[in-house]
Amino acid sequence: MKALVYHGPRQVSVDDVPDARIEKPTDVLVRITSTNICGSDLHMYEGRTDFEEGRIFGHENLGEVVEVGDAVDKVAVGDMVSAPFNVSCGHCENCEHGLTNYCLRANEPGLAGAAYGFADMGPWPGGQAEYLRVPWGDFQCLRLPEDARDKQDDYVMLSDIFPTGWHATEMSGLKPGESIVIYGGGPVGQMAALSAVTKGASKVMVVDRHPDRLRLAEQIGAIPIDDSQGSPVDQVMEQTQGRGADRGCECVGYQAHDPQGNEDNADTLNKLVSSVRFTGGIGTVGVFVPQDPGAPDELAQQGKARFDFGNFWFKGQQMGCGQAPVKRYNRHLRSLIAADKVKPSWIVSHDLSLEQAPEAYKHFDAREDGWTKVVLHPGQTSNGSGRENG
Ligand SMILES: [Zn+2]
Ligand SMILES: [Zn+2]
Repeated sequence: MKALVYHGPRQVSVDDVPDARIEKPTDVLVRITSTNICGSDLHMYEGRTDFEEGRIFGHENLGEVVEVGDAVDKVAVGDMVSAPFNVSCGHCENCEHGLTNYCLRANEPGLAGAAYGFADMGPWPGGQAEYLRVPWGDFQCLRLPEDARDKQDDYVMLSDIFPTGWHATEMSGLKPGESIVIYGGGPVGQMAALSAVTKGASKVMVVDRHPDRLRLAEQIGAIPIDDSQGSPVDQVMEQTQGRGADRGCECVGYQAHDPQGNEDNADTLNKLVSSVRFTGGIGTVGVFVPQDPGAPDELAQQGKARFDFGNFWFKGQQMGCGQAPVKRYNRHLRSLIAADKVKPSWIVSHDLSLEQAPEAYKHFDAREDGWTKVVLHPGQTSNGSGRENG
């Protein structure tokens, strides 16, 4: 089968690799019809992780079931399914408690949590390929309704970024009527904004500096805050009568940098502490890592940050962090899409074939204007199917 393979920093190509196949009776084999390039793929693409050469990217996957193992009982050939990016077994202690983001059986012993095509998250090949093996298929696969084929660009967001954005707002403690500031207007930040709007926040502010992202946030009723035009903390204070936002979300991660490009992994965290009111809450879903050998300073190389703990403690804030347990939310978010209450595909800028992926990585990695979210459609040819959305 064809798959997008990593060959070293900023080197990927579409190669012929051995077909994904049923290996255990509980497996489901999915023919991928939509798979996203994610911001967290870029950490690996840029060589900022220990992602091994030869591995396949892709953890935001949707497709059609083409084969099921003998022990698969619920999922059937022909079903359109969304596969959560978390690989999880369904019956370990953490999975039983709904913590599928920290499954104890899907990674090597001593590590909790796994994902497709992801550094340090187990051996699982990614889905930027023609086929994907989904282990523990009955537990993993979320079946999609009749309109799945027509609304793939919406449903494909259920595998990661929509639940992740939702989780950020959950961890922040957001209640209807409260205000919230979201640092990072990339795809996850946009989904956090959509989630906050859907939950009835009174004011949703999105901090970024890319005009295309600020425009997207504005389209769903959020207030764009351009941090290249002055302190975002001051702008949030202006919007909240000097109190600060009730809640905040971190949707940038460890490669946070100022508008001039200076990297500081604590930048967004410290600005959140300053932007959120006394006793407010913060949800951090941007990726941080235990070691970052490519970081510009020694502390960050050890995965440490100059976090403004004094101000955080003084203000009595709370923070939740980590990857999202997709299964906690994806069923309900599916229903919101099916009922046309939300349309997460509004952020999609490009629908491309798998062959166009290496080119797409270049543009997306450069944060080129207009490259907000790329959906790849393996099985489609590049001539004519590539769509740049206006
Ligand atoms: Zn992702
Ligand atoms: Zn488990």
